[in-house]
Amino acid sequence: MHGQSFAYQRPGSLREFEALYASHGDNAKILAGGTDLLVLIKERLLAPRLLLDISDLPELKGIAYDPAAGLTIGAGVKVAEIERSALVKEHAPALAFAASNLGSNQVRWMATMAGNVCHASPAAETPPVLLAHGCELLIGSQAGERRLPIAEFFLAYRKTALKPGEYLKGFRLPPLAADAAVAYRLRGLRRAMEIDMINLGVYLRLEADGATAAEVRLAMGSVGPISYRAAATEEKLKGMTVDEAFLAAAAAGVAAEAAPIDDVRASADYRNRVVGVLARRGLTHCLEQIGSRRNKA
Ligand SMILES: Cc1cc2nc3c(=O)[nH]c(=O)nc-3n(C[C@H](O)[C@H](O)[C@H](O)COP(=O)(O)OP(=O)(O)OC[C@H]3O[C@@H](n4cnc5c(N)ncnc54)[C@H](O)[C@@H]3O)c2cc1C
Repeated sequence: MHGQSFAYQRPGSLREFEALYASHGDNAKILAGGTDLLVLIKERLLAPRLLLDISDLPELKGIAYDPAAGLTIGAGVKVAEIERSALVKEHAPALAFAASNLGSNQVRWMATMAGNVCHASPAAETPPVLLAHGCELLIGSQAGERRLPIAEFFLAYRKTALKPGEYLKGFRLPPLAADAAVAYRLRGLRRAMEIDMINLGVYLRLEADGATAAEVRLAMGSVGPISYRAAATEEKLKGMTVDEAFLAAAAAGVAAEAAPIDDVRASADYRNRVVGVLARRGLTHCLEQIGSRRNKA
């Protein structure tokens, strides 16, 4: 047998799940797709007494778009659904692209984005693009609901801001302004079934003049213990004319703020060189998206 035995329960409603989760405390683990959790149990890195399967809860399903609120994605939505969703492709194409790069087709039909975010691996596929979007997390518990910017969610390696009894209920991505775009860039050892060596989400909003950076977000993965934004570089780029000097400053800035290590997938030196290239390419892709929208208007 793999790992220690555990009990399994599939609550029939969100209320039932919240009550069970609150009463079992640290002994219970949430099971979504199981593509991270069951590996940890099998490898004896985790030994929960109870698995609470939330994968079929209807309250956690669904993708919706509202022009004022933006894009809402339930925690129970599978990565493959995000990859294929017409709403995601229209309002957050970089997220659809990131989703399409997670594992294999089989993994994507099991895995949820909530599991990807809550597992809190620094190499995870979706956190950088969610950080670039300025995503808000909807966090539930028996006591009610609270919202948290995703930038405050990752506390340390595989450690999140969820408190006992709390779970991730969904994601809210604010609507993108006409002069704004998000891009996602990644680098792996090969094209399929690969945990990224490095990945990066970029957000760029231009001033009305179409030539000045009003706001920039640069979110990096696999260059430190968590996915995080290069805050000092973002600040420096604000107000700059978007030209070659801007791209060079972005590339140098993220390389300076990255703190990678050598590991099985890449050396720290390689990651430091590549992160700047990804920032440059991501910003260029944002400029292309904004430009083509302007041309159509
Ligand atoms: C073959 C293979 C390839 C993979 N390739 C990639 C890849 O390319 N990129 C990548 O990023 N990942 C990859 N993964 C990792 C994994 O598939 C993803 O991280 C996936 O999104 C996890 O989602 P899940 O629904 O399976 O989570 P689970 O395994 O069910 O849960 C993961 C963790 O999150 C917690 N959790 C789940 N849902 C919630 C919730 N709503 N609220 C609070 N806590 C919750 C669980 O308790 C657990 O601690 C791969 C895994 C495998 C097996």
